Amino acid sequence: MTGASSAPAAKSAQGLDALDLKGKRVLMRVDFNVPQDDTGAISDDTRIRAALPTIQEVLAKGARCVVLMSHLGRPKGVDAKLRLNPIAQRLEKLLKRKVLKLDDSTGAAVEAAVNGAAAGSVILLENVRFNAGEQKADAALSAAYAKLGDVFVNDAFGTSHRAECSVSEVAKLLPSVAGRLLQAEIEAFGRVLSAPKRPLVAILGGAKVSDKLLVIDNLLERCDTILIGGGMAYTFLHVLGQPIGKSLVELDRVDVVKKALEKAKAKKVELLLPVDHVVADKFAADAATKVVESIPDGWMALDIGPKSQKLFADKIAAAQTLVWNGPMGVFEMPAFAKGTAAVGKAVAACKGYTVVGGGDSVAALEMLKLSSKVKHVSTGGGASLELLEGKTLPGIAALKA
Ligand code: AMP
Repeated sequence: MTGASSAPAAKSAQGLDALDLKGKRVLMRVDFNVPQDDTGAISDDTRIRAALPTIQEVLAKGARCVVLMSHLGRPKGVDAKLRLNPIAQRLEKLLKRKVLKLDDSTGAAVEAAVNGAAAGSVILLENVRFNAGEQKADAALSAAYAKLGDVFVNDAFGTSHRAECSVSEVAKLLPSVAGRLLQAEIEAFGRVLSAPKRPLVAILGGAKVSDKLLVIDNLLERCDTILIGGGMAYTFLHVLGQPIGKSLVELDRVDVVKKALEKAKAKKVELLLPVDHVVADKFAADAATKVVESIPDGWMALDIGPKSQKLFADKIAAAQTLVWNGPMGVFEMPAFAKGTAAVGKAVAACKGYTVVGGGDSVAALEMLKLSSKVKHVSTGGGASLELLEGKTLPGIAALKA
């Protein structure tokens, strides 16, 4: 590991074992930001299920009560459609015990409800983003949350890159530790970023190179091989003087991409780009398509071709440690999903330690029913990208037992 861009502060976060929870009010930030359909019904409760082990462990350790807090959606003030009532109902079913849902998240009535709750109660506060100060790290709001617990547990990895009251700010006011879900994320990215078994291979994809420049820069310090696919590959190919037709390109990033290529050379990191492409005559599911090695004028590359799939799959197979973030093509359209599927299958078959992060690569894995074959599927898109950038996440850095 090198100089400035050190490993995530993750390593320093202690877990539930560091605190005596017996008789304590345990304030816990979870990520219950679940997808809902038009009627408000929960369409996927994965995130609620993912929080159960920590909640159950805290109760088993004799906590007086668990006070859960989460955001849902992006409300501007109180929004009836974004109350956490349906989540409380689902949580009650999954936990098989009563959940006391409160209609607010701070104030005297909430404090009285928490302090008066029967031993072993599970309490769910209202959507924290109904509070104007939540996303502004407001000190008074953080202090109001802190009154509801003797200790704080952060188990919301997906929001840990945000310096928000219920995430990092309240953590500073109470003895605080990471929950099991957050710990698993910290450990997984730690295995990739600090002293990984080699070769360490990163696969990066997705639309924009601008979103991943900091990730590329940090991974160039650590990886043996970086495979780049998706829309972001075409700015690289353009810089290398290859024809890219109408493919995605970010001309304002040409200089930074040039620097990344130079850094790869200097650090002796193998940086591989697609060697063939599925091109289309328009950005549409029913476009005319063909496989080419050189992109013709007027065509756009929307997926990596079969030779690239093989090239990438061979590198993936040899990895001892691997991290994948971002699709290889416009995988939402079947005509351009083969590259992402091939990479997904290769990652699933890889015998090394494999971590997949980022919404789209996780969605692709799920489409392929391969999630269970990966060692760690991250629950946080933005948070995992920031860890890969080498940043310290506020919600992790603030924890102190
Ligand atoms: P991101 O949010 O940056 O991870 O990008 C994900 C999006 O990139 C997906 O919606 C893909 O459809 C899109 N994408 C991947 N490859 C390409 C490509 N070659 N051209 C245009 N969009 C792409």
